[in-house]
Amino acid sequence: MASVEKREQAMEEQGGAAVLGWAARDNTGVLSPYNFSRRVPRDDDVTIKVLYCGICHTDLHIIRNDWGNANYPVVPGHEIVGVVTGVGAGVTRFKPGDTVGVGYFVGSCRSCDSCGKGNENFCAGVVLTSNGVDHAHGGASTKGGFSDVIVVNEHYVLRVPDGLPLDRTAPLLCAGVTVYSPMMRHGLNEPGKHLGVVGLGGLGHVAVKFGKAFGMKVTVISTSPSKREEALDRLGADAFLVSRDPEQMKAATGTMDGIIDTVSAWHPITPLLALLKPLGQMVVVGVPNKPLELPVYAIVPGGKGVAGSLVGSVGDCQAMLEFAGKHGIGADVEVIKMDYVNTAIERLEKNDVRYRFVIDVAGSLGSAA
Ligand code: NAP
Ligand code: ZN
Repeated sequence: MASVEKREQAMEEQGGAAVLGWAARDNTGVLSPYNFSRRVPRDDDVTIKVLYCGICHTDLHIIRNDWGNANYPVVPGHEIVGVVTGVGAGVTRFKPGDTVGVGYFVGSCRSCDSCGKGNENFCAGVVLTSNGVDHAHGGASTKGGFSDVIVVNEHYVLRVPDGLPLDRTAPLLCAGVTVYSPMMRHGLNEPGKHLGVVGLGGLGHVAVKFGKAFGMKVTVISTSPSKREEALDRLGADAFLVSRDPEQMKAATGTMDGIIDTVSAWHPITPLLALLKPLGQMVVVGVPNKPLELPVYAIVPGGKGVAGSLVGSVGDCQAMLEFAGKHGIGADVEVIKMDYVNTAIERLEKNDVRYRFVIDVAGSLGSAA
């Protein structure tokens, strides 16, 4: 059946907007076209035509079922920039035509301690944008931004500041806030402090940009010597260490105030902890599917900290976007059409992207909004 007919059929059956997305059906992770329907918008919902959506390494982990929680079919995508096409009667913050963003989550319980403190990202009932369980809407599995329309409660919609290029802004909705939020929380935003960024990928390269905008000294710690010139010349890092070179690592012992570890695969962290000054702080944001090793001797003598962090709150995300707008920060992107997505994901897996793929969703799928 042609996709237009399928859309009409889905719309008749479910009453909400019929949507064309791309979904993975099993742990091969191969994506193909998928017709489904969005929920009927409620009073506090915003309907958004998706313009751009970044491809985060988390999408790759999920579609391959690396974390054992894939609920197929999975429509990935949580780095969304779009334009508002409709608002419910109770929506106060947005109107049709506004440029908006949607990040890693689209709901939370709004009554727990974390939600009360504005830390929705740490709510036990957080509703992820893709492959999440939507408690407020019958437990449906959420479908992300690799699709032409999304319906989101206004509380979880972000305003995109004027002047930011939209393709380069999409990755900020996850990669950007994931590094910005813990940098703010752990004081890794102070001029003159020395920040180490481990893994120069989607998250890592924006961490370098935020670190430099904060006035910090930034050292990239990478497995890829081929990224040295780009890190120093294009991204503005001050120094570059090859993590597999023990001599280089030894020379930097005890020099860093903080480290952000964005690595997606298992790797040794003891040599990284040795780079911290006494009382230094490592923040782990990468999510390998095997446990990292943390010998106590690596943290006890220097009183060092190891923390984790998960994206950032709605407030953090809005503040990050404002900061990015003020400092002209955007991701370095390779914009692709939807029909290139499977190749892009293979290339992402091989560390062959500088530094984020972004899908031109509206230019690939058209829109049913
Ligand atoms: P990415 O673009 O693939 O970047 C990951 C980087 O890690 C690579 O560019 C590479 O950098 C390094 N790396 C890869 N394999 C490695 C290995 N075996 N040993 C050492 N370094 C290796 O991925 P991303 O989108 O930035 O995401 C990174 C991780 O963060 C993923 O696990 C993702 O799921 C997770 N994540 C977490 C959150 C959160 O809220 N905590 C949010 C988004 C993503 P070099 O070439 O420089 O070594
Ligand atoms: Zn992500």
